Amino acid sequence: MYDPSYASNHLVRQLRAASLGRDQAPFLEDASAGSMTGSVTSYGQFFARAEQFANALVARGLQPGDRIAVQAPKTQAMLELYVGTVMAGGVFLPLNSAYTAPEVSYFLSDAEPRILVCDPARLSDLQPIAAEAGVSDILTLAADESGSLTQARDAQSPSFEAVARQASDLAAILYTSGTTGRSKGAMLSHSALASNSQTLKDYWRFTRDDVLIHALPIFHTHGLFVATNISLMAGSACLFMPGFDAGAIMDAMPRATAMMGVPTFYVRLLEMPGLAEATSNMRLFVSGSAPLLADTHDRWRAITGHAILERYGMTETNMNTSNPYEGARRAGTVGFPLPGVELKVASPETGETLRADEIGVLEVRGPNVFSGYWRMPEKTAEELRSDGFFITGDLGKIDTQGYVHIVGRGKDLIIITGGFNVYPKEIELLIDDLPGVDESAVIGVPHPDFGEAVLAVVVPQKGIEISAEAVQTGVADKLARFKQPKRVVIVDALPRNTMGKVQKNLLREAYRDSFSA
Ligand code: AMP
Repeated sequence: MYDPSYASNHLVRQLRAASLGRDQAPFLEDASAGSMTGSVTSYGQFFARAEQFANALVARGLQPGDRIAVQAPKTQAMLELYVGTVMAGGVFLPLNSAYTAPEVSYFLSDAEPRILVCDPARLSDLQPIAAEAGVSDILTLAADESGSLTQARDAQSPSFEAVARQASDLAAILYTSGTTGRSKGAMLSHSALASNSQTLKDYWRFTRDDVLIHALPIFHTHGLFVATNISLMAGSACLFMPGFDAGAIMDAMPRATAMMGVPTFYVRLLEMPGLAEATSNMRLFVSGSAPLLADTHDRWRAITGHAILERYGMTETNMNTSNPYEGARRAGTVGFPLPGVELKVASPETGETLRADEIGVLEVRGPNVFSGYWRMPEKTAEELRSDGFFITGDLGKIDTQGYVHIVGRGKDLIIITGGFNVYPKEIELLIDDLPGVDESAVIGVPHPDFGEAVLAVVVPQKGIEISAEAVQTGVADKLARFKQPKRVVIVDALPRNTMGKVQKNLLREAYRDSFSA
């Protein structure tokens, strides 16, 4: 039953508004591989369970502002727990399921959550770590396990007086991936999450008639906030999958209208037979979290007739830019700043705003931006300017037509002795265009003479052999000498994290001794 007191909870009120009076409408349909039954959770059932979770959390001592850390498999219960936590005035803190026990230990001592919810398979592993970090309540979401949080939920009433929360109160903390240095907890307010999802829902035209393929992880901003919050706010249905499975997605597409994915989803789906027919009912494909190759965009369009809509965002800011819903979706760009979001390109040296086509550091300001890093005031002051602009660390430019281009991460910039800056993306685009090349990653590695040297890691297309020399000569006449790779390595695949991002830190580590004496 809808409790009118949701009205005082900034985010939950907005997540519930579209489904009010539509309790029978489907929200989550189990669409995991091989699930023929496709059990459906309605909006009424979902919010009733979220209220039960809220009651269970309060019964375990949750106070407004307390963190609930969750490192668990992707399930409907985890989403109910997310909404229940926010409803109870808590702060939801999901953790990447790939984190090891020592990594989890850092998050627990940093965030000091009231409760840790974990995978039953990790319970014995994490119990001592939680105890050491002073977290005494450690539970699972296993429905069949006595004493689990799910059983505690089921014992509670589905009626909860939502705790009043203001726009600026925290709803979630998401830790940044932290490939360099310590991972930081991005504090996300009720209004940062609510406003961004409202904007995206309207921009991408989500309605109650939509059926979204939900195959992204829910410990990350893309699957938790973009996919889930938009669906809730639009009152749409989701075909809910525990992870990416190309076969399950092919089966689901004829019943769906939209999909959100990382670039690797699209690359893998392009290998599936019957893609054109399977996608004929769809209205929208969104890609983000990592760069989508123009080649993937073009091939997808040629086969399906759909132009993938690429957007750009990050843990700290939610979504910043999007290609247009109507109008040209330009491959290789991330589109325009979203309504209400300001984006500028700043000189890395002087901080002054650069002109069209000039490359610099992207800075963003808007209601979508986070409130700072958890317990790291110095880091916050370094990256979040007093005028509200957040220094993203991404390098990019705005072209003369207003499209934003991402050129790379600041930390991926290669600096060659003599002060020449090399942007990996420029070289990667040229290498990717060579015959027989599937994709590439360009990194800087230590070099005794140059400080750092350009090294290209190249993946050939399936069944095609290419040589390092062919890559080197292929780009030689297109690039200044200092930008040309000093070494080319041919590999079968690039290392990627679960969000599809190429892990350049692993490549730098693997090839760091390439030029040592
Ligand atoms: P995360 O905080 O894990 O979501 O990572 C955010 C980072 O992913 C951004 O700062 C960008 O470097 C990268 N990213 C996200 N979307 C895109 C995109 N469409 N194209 C290129 N890079 C992207």
